[in-house]
Amino acid sequence: MIDCGFAQSGDVCDPVNTDPFPYNPADIDAIFFTHAHADHIGLFPKLVRDGFHGPAYATEPTADLIPIMLEDAVSHLAHDADRCGHEPAYLRTDLERAYALIRRTRYHEPITVGDARVTFFDAGHILGSATVLVEVEGKRILFTGDLGRRTPAIVSPREIVPNVDVLVTESVYGNRLHGDPEAADIVLQDAVRETVKRRGVLLIPAFSLERTQIILASLDRMTDQGTIPDVPLYLDSPLAARISEVYMRYPKYLSPTLRRAVEDGKDPLAARTLKVTINTEESAAIDSVKPPKIIIAGAGMSHGGRIRHHERIYLGSPDTHLLFVGYQVPGSLGRRLRDGQKTVMIDKARVSVRAKIGIADGYSAHADRDDLMAYVEETGPKRVFVVLGETEAATFLAQRITGFLGTPVDVPREGEVYEI
Ligand SMILES: [Zn+2]
Repeated sequence: MIDCGFAQSGDVCDPVNTDPFPYNPADIDAIFFTHAHADHIGLFPKLVRDGFHGPAYATEPTADLIPIMLEDAVSHLAHDADRCGHEPAYLRTDLERAYALIRRTRYHEPITVGDARVTFFDAGHILGSATVLVEVEGKRILFTGDLGRRTPAIVSPREIVPNVDVLVTESVYGNRLHGDPEAADIVLQDAVRETVKRRGVLLIPAFSLERTQIILASLDRMTDQGTIPDVPLYLDSPLAARISEVYMRYPKYLSPTLRRAVEDGKDPLAARTLKVTINTEESAAIDSVKPPKIIIAGAGMSHGGRIRHHERIYLGSPDTHLLFVGYQVPGSLGRRLRDGQKTVMIDKARVSVRAKIGIADGYSAHADRDDLMAYVEETGPKRVFVVLGETEAATFLAQRITGFLGTPVDVPREGEVYEI
């Protein structure tokens, strides 16, 4: 089995993650995790509770990140279950049994499962992310998990695996193009300069795994190069702080620039103005610091986490700049703010929004439609299955692959079976 994540639904009360699995978990020999994002690992404890007892393979950084991410997930599950009046998908007491099954591995080290040989390669998406090559009965089948961009911001780049017979590729951004990271850096840089000039507050809601580290690396570089003035910078997220520690533990999984910095004894995710606030007292104390200041906090779409507190306090001021650096799902508080809604409810308080709203959309760690096409073309498989994206994105990518490369493509529906 490859990955076992949460299904993402706009509605937290959707029972999609609590329904029984459509297969018997006890029948699965082994599981391989491509990376530690919740939509790829989130249901692993439930799989174990429901009978899976085989090994669970992950690269070293992914193995370190899984417990950090699952402990965060399980508290949200309990909270959502309470609100929706259903049982959570699993409990905190289910976690230890799941952790005990994790086997740490590295890229390029083959693992034997029955008749199959399975090997991880770099996917270039987030720290430790992997594509999975399954060699069985003379066929080479490659699963992408999530792919990174051709030049990822802070992690090592994706690898091309040779002689692939069948490619099972993701298609999350199969029909969309991202802005470029240099343009996003300019937006960020201008936002910081302007915040300092106006003595305001720059709020950045960010996902804790990868996006926050990308922003921290950019701010560190700008501070060192003197393109932004020194200004108090708060990382108000214990989760992101724990994740950043894992990044620093694995320099060889980082981009060449960051790797050199770490090897020279520098922390490229910690600008000299950075303060990490862990407990709630430290977090509350940020409010009493006189602006200008920058606050980075989760959740990435403002649907929970400490960013909501800061949004409630600061969005009413015209000297606040709220900068979006990631996707905002329709229906989320982040999306409403991004779309320019002037009054929002945050934790039972009515907030009139006078803050400036900015968007830096070039920081994605996901391959966009051209990155995906380039990957398929360089890999050169004989046959392709397009999975993981919304129908429109998947079909668009499938049509381009057949149109430009002439490779046979299928977009499988859930439950469909193919013989290779
Ligand atoms: Zn991912």
